[in-house]
Amino acid sequence: MPLVVQKFGGTSVGDADRIRAVADHIARTRRQGAEVVAVVSAMGKTTDELIHLADSVSATQPPREYDMLVSTGERISMSLLVMALADLGVDAASFTGSQVGIITDNDHTRAKILEVKGDRLREALAAGKVPVVAGFQGVSTEREITTLGRGGSDATAVALAAILGADVCEIYTDVTGVFSADPRIVPEAHRINRISFDEMLEMAATGGRVLMLRAVEFARNHNVPLHVRSSFTWEPGTWVVEEDADMEDAVVTAVTHDTSEAKVTVSGVPDRPGVAARLFRALADKSINIDMIVQNTSVKGTTDISFTVPNDDLTGAIETAQAHAEELGASGVTADAEVARVSLVGAGMKSHPGIAATMFETLADEQINIDMISTSTIRTSCIVAEEDVERAVRCLHAAFALG
Ligand code: ADP
Ligand code: ASP
Ligand code: MG
Repeated sequence: MPLVVQKFGGTSVGDADRIRAVADHIARTRRQGAEVVAVVSAMGKTTDELIHLADSVSATQPPREYDMLVSTGERISMSLLVMALADLGVDAASFTGSQVGIITDNDHTRAKILEVKGDRLREALAAGKVPVVAGFQGVSTEREITTLGRGGSDATAVALAAILGADVCEIYTDVTGVFSADPRIVPEAHRINRISFDEMLEMAATGGRVLMLRAVEFARNHNVPLHVRSSFTWEPGTWVVEEDADMEDAVVTAVTHDTSEAKVTVSGVPDRPGVAARLFRALADKSINIDMIVQNTSVKGTTDISFTVPNDDLTGAIETAQAHAEELGASGVTADAEVARVSLVGAGMKSHPGIAATMFETLADEQINIDMISTSTIRTSCIVAEEDVERAVRCLHAAFALG
């Protein structure tokens, strides 16, 4: 019998009607002869509301307690979904991440999955039940409840699909698949029918938040086919699979954007070996994720180093850079949170020169200033002012005829 992992995002379980519709769909999938493991997110904006509640109670928010709090959202939806399944005569049981043995490291609020035991899942399946698992959470090697970072239910679903050897991991959401740009910003964006893991990784890494980055990495490493589709229309959506001949051979596949970045500049540092090493070692020791780095050519023996970090890490990055400014011999540290990144992603960029040039010309024609640039073999990204980014996405989408 085929085994399907079905993950339902927040809007898909947003209210009682939606939960009943999801239960119907699971019952239908079972009638068609598949075994189902369901993974659920918290209902609607529940996670945001819990975070808001924490913000209004506490300035310190010990990470252990943060995880205890925000992991509760998924417990609500998992138990309600099992109740709705019971009404349909489907035998199901809910499990927390800890109960199914999702073992993580101790990095609270963004823990990484180290291992999935899954015994209870296998037992439930063997007993003919539908296991309904709370996404986004696990238990650490120190036996504490952890969460996997925003969007983490995708990672739960892929990890379960990998250890169970599922035939497919279906990600149900509020759009009908992965589009050539965020459909909220570019209404003419088109749905991509098949996309490679590599392209999807670049999209997820550059702000295409329809799939969590770590979930795509995990799916690629374990070769778990993903099917991103709508829980509103139930129509077939986008398959994320290994690159093959059936893929669209467009040079540019998608335009993504990310407004959650900030830029830090350390100015007037002496241009000599070891300076960058010391600065970035100090940032790494604080678990700060650095993205783009630009070092200017030196003038009179000193230079500026700029880098981008997620907004959430900005305070930590500034503090760390300032703490080391004197030892680095830097003259100052400045920051700009009002920046955003716009990126072009496409496997065809490997073999087509000139894409970056067209990107810069298109932005120039729109009078959008480029602050920083970075490239990989299948991506080109520019940092621009946050207020310009939506315009940048729309003009690039049009310039590369992706509509
Ligand atoms: P869920 O709660 O189901 O996990 P998310 O909000 O995490 O849903 O992801 C779905 C959203 O991702 C869509 O509503 C859409 O606005 C956004 N999105 C951004 N970029 C893209 C893209 N390229 N294709 C599809 N959706 C995208
Ligand atoms: N509920 C969590 C979040 O909002 C996890 C998820 O939805 O994937 O980030
Ligand atoms: Mg999501």
